[in-house]
Order: sequence, then C-alpha cells, then structure tokens
Amino acid sequence: MDSVPIQLALPLLESSGPLKICSKCARALPLSAYYIKVKATGRRMADCRDCHNAGSIAYYATHKEQHNRVARERRQRDPARARAKDRAKNARTRPQLLVRRRAWHALPANKAKTKAYHKAHADQERAYYHAHAKCFIARAGAWNKAHPDAAAVYTRNRRARLAKAPGRFTPAEWQHVKERQDYTCLDCGQREPAIKLSIDHIIPLSKGGSNDIANIAGRCQPCNSRKGARLP
Ligand SMILES: [Zn+2]
Ligand SMILES: [Zn+2]
Repeated sequence: MDSVPIQLALPLLESSGPLKICSKCARALPLSAYYIKVKATGRRMADCRDCHNAGSIAYYATHKEQHNRVARERRQRDPARARAKDRAKNARTRPQLLVRRRAWHALPANKAKTKAYHKAHADQERAYYHAHAKCFIARAGAWNKAHPDAAAVYTRNRRARLAKAPGRFTPAEWQHVKERQDYTCLDCGQREPAIKLSIDHIIPLSKGGSNDIANIAGRCQPCNSRKGARLP
C-alpha cells in the first residue's frame, strides 16, 4: 500500500485546535482531517482522510473481484434493502448529477459526441423504444397532464416543424404573452380562469406565418376556432 503514490490534497480545515500526527504521512493535522473510527466516543482513525482514501483506492485496485463479489452477495441476500439504499443515494445525489449532466451536454464537443452516438445506435434505440413503448407513452401522457401549458407549446412547435414553418417558442415565452394580455382573450375580452387562453398564430402558418413568439397571441378556444385560418 505504501508504494501507491499518495495525492495529498487535503486543505487545512481549521487553524486552531489540537493537531494529530498521521500514522502514514506524518503530517500534523487538525482532528477534522481524520475520519471518526468509533461513533460512540468520537475516536478518530490513525491515518488522515487523504491517506485513508488513498488506501481504500489501492485496496480496491488489488481486491476488485472480492469486493464486487461481496457486494453482489449482499445485494442477493437482501434485494429490498439494496434497492432502498440505491434510491436514497439517487435522491441525495440527483441535484448535483443534473447540474453536471447539463454542463456536460452544453459543451459543443459533447453535443457532437451525443449526436454521433445516437446515429450509431439508432437501430438499437428504436428497438428499445418499441419494446417499452407502453411505458414511454404512459410517462409522456402523465407529464403532459401535469404540465398542460408546456405540453401545448411543444405540440405547436412539433406541428410547425412538420409543416416546415420557421420559428419555435418556449413555455416561458407563452406565459409572458398571456401575462402581457392580462390573461384576456383578444376577441371576446373574457378573462382566465372563466376561459382558457389557447395558442393562436396571428398570421396562420397556412398563410406563411411563422411559429416565432412574435406571431403568437392568446385567444380562447371558441374565438380561436372561429378565426381559423383567416387573416386577422
Ligand atoms: Zn496522512
Ligand atoms: Zn374569446
């Protein structure tokens, strides 16, 4: 274990208080730099966190098979407990995970990587989708039900894309349009929640209008259908 190069990266956590000499690296460090060994008494380990972590990594490298076998056996002995632990960990780390994932996907190089991956695995992904179509459809349906306004925006964007009309807008932009109209229908003057504003293309897509937010207004459903594909 001593042959493993140790990365001593631990910052000094406190400047006062008693110091303790690490049994491995011999640094004098505050107590908080050591893991607690005995919870009841608060007794600390003999080696500092850096040394202990390095030791764990070295141990795992040489005992990988054994470690994984023990973990697998524990999981088989009590699958419910293992799943509960997984769920708890996922819940704990999810916010960080989402931030990291978003940052990763925002990099142009990674965008290209993702695109290439999907292209190379298109057949597998299609097969997976078809094998799980019911789950996907149920999940999407539940999401749409929980987010009706956003779902309406995405439907408009999809239809516009299929109709080869330019422009797309976001749920936030649609909210802003409604707010600007004070949640009132442009034609009949009724106000939410008595009516429900629906998305109207001021110049209809069929007349060459764009799906850009500048061409979006809120009208109640009856007024929207009465207007139909006529120009305003
Ligand atoms: Zn140490
Ligand atoms: Zn109306």
